Amino acid sequence: MYISRLLLVFAIVVLYNRAAEADSGYITGKFTFWNESVNACDASAGMDCTDALFPAGSTNSYQPIKEATIQIQVRYPGPTWVTRGNGYTDANGNYTILWSEGGGTPGSGSWRIRWVHEHRDDFFRVVDSAGNRYDSIHPHSGATLPALQNGQTVDLGTRTFTPLQSGNIYDQAWRAWNFPLKHSTLVYANLWFAELAWPVAGVGGAEADSPNNRINIGTDGWRSSLQQAHELGHLATFVANPRKQFAMYNYCHPPGTCPCPDGGCSDPSGVSWTFTSNEHRASAFEEGLAEFIAIGAHYWFGATGPRTCFSNIGSCVAGTTDLRNVEVYSETCNGRSVLSNLRFLWDTYDNIDDAGWSDTLSRSFAGAIDTVGNYPNTTTDGGEDEPWDPTLTFIDDEDGRRGSDYVTNSTISVSTQRTNNCNP
Ligand SMILES: [Zn+2]
Repeated sequence: MYISRLLLVFAIVVLYNRAAEADSGYITGKFTFWNESVNACDASAGMDCTDALFPAGSTNSYQPIKEATIQIQVRYPGPTWVTRGNGYTDANGNYTILWSEGGGTPGSGSWRIRWVHEHRDDFFRVVDSAGNRYDSIHPHSGATLPALQNGQTVDLGTRTFTPLQSGNIYDQAWRAWNFPLKHSTLVYANLWFAELAWPVAGVGGAEADSPNNRINIGTDGWRSSLQQAHELGHLATFVANPRKQFAMYNYCHPPGTCPCPDGGCSDPSGVSWTFTSNEHRASAFEEGLAEFIAIGAHYWFGATGPRTCFSNIGSCVAGTTDLRNVEVYSETCNGRSVLSNLRFLWDTYDNIDDAGWSDTLSRSFAGAIDTVGNYPNTTTDGGEDEPWDPTLTFIDDEDGRRGSDYVTNSTISVSTQRTNNCNP
């Protein structure tokens, strides 16, 4: 059913040969879905949307289904739906797909189109809590498509699929994949079928389960474009550099001092983090890295007001206390904060000067993410498992794997950006 990156060319050849001995034709058009994702940059609310990749007009509107797998299914002459054509949409939702049917040309009502909720090159898929992939049928509710035409192209024009939650999650994952993640050589080679699971009971927002190649999304979490990108950032950098994972509760420094931003913290040591609180440095870097990727999914490197916000399920609007403009936000200098790590990484990527110092460095996402992926496989200083003891049985340095280790492992000098962002 899945056409992998490697088998794509082979499959097209097979279909083409089939066409010589059966009725066949093309279907062309464009597919859209209704986007209700939050976290768009809204200039009318006073936000600086220079170089924004997800501007307000992209949400609460029909948007292209991007780089998705599309199947033509027929039930002609038999009653059972079978797939008789495979293809893909491009980044603008446009597609042209060859169908081929040995039993003759299906008439109106005898064929349909299925949107497989899976990236065309197998990087991610949207599934339910049991791991079953979401697929959507067009048309639905008894509506029919016009008859196919042997040897002809049927142009359906712009058509709409109706899935809301799964469709929005697909689009959020595409944004994280397309803008930052795919530029990493290591992520591109090693990320396969990452699962975005919705709805998962007991999850607030979303959380990455990287060793299982999965993101669990709570019932209400499907709207948050930033959070899905953040969790995919955790997952993708893990795939690029598999290492021993931390248990939860490793955030607060010292333990017991962290606020609980969602008001729902039950563990006294703190199960969560904020942008400005003191964290163990390994955790602060990991969260800063994930948020760096999330912002990279929403702003290009020339952004003068790249923003994130902590209340990820709500909209990210000016004036809310958790809003962060990564470029101009000021805080008491704190190398233990997630914000310092985030600003450090963003300054290695963007081409905007910070107030007070010159920052001419603008490295690619490939360089930034692959740097993390290439940490040496050791528990010593600068190693991928530095927080762990040499036998990988207990944490002996929760401040290991921090910003200075990123400087050590980087192939280009990023020490100025670290120094000017409070030495995370
Ligand atoms: Zn995180």
